[in-house]
Amino acid sequence: MSKPLAPKPPPQRSQTPRQVLIDLLGHQSYDVRQLSKEAHLSERDVLFQLEELQRSLKKSPQRLEIEPARCLSCGYTFETRERFQRPGRCPKCKGQRISHPLFSLRGPSQE
Ligand SMILES: [Zn+2]
Repeated sequence: MSKPLAPKPPPQRSQTPRQVLIDLLGHQSYDVRQLSKEAHLSERDVLFQLEELQRSLKKSPQRLEIEPARCLSCGYTFETRERFQRPGRCPKCKGQRISHPLFSLRGPSQE
């Protein structure tokens, strides 16, 4: 579990990864893959940040909205709130065409 020590490019904006995600999610919905690309984070880091974000928003008027993953074959909706990752297969029809959960921020800005 050791990470290679790659030199990181200097950040163009002086924002923490969480602030970048808040920024993005405040404007529109994204799935994890899109967030990973936009925020220049690995998908694992995005998931970690989202969990942290959800936790940190508990006392704030803002909320992390999660549109759950859905089976594209039968329409089954995965209502698991804790899981941010896309499930592998549908328990109902065993289909594997599953939409990605979408994340967005709702509520008044904290600024
Ligand atoms: Zn299904």
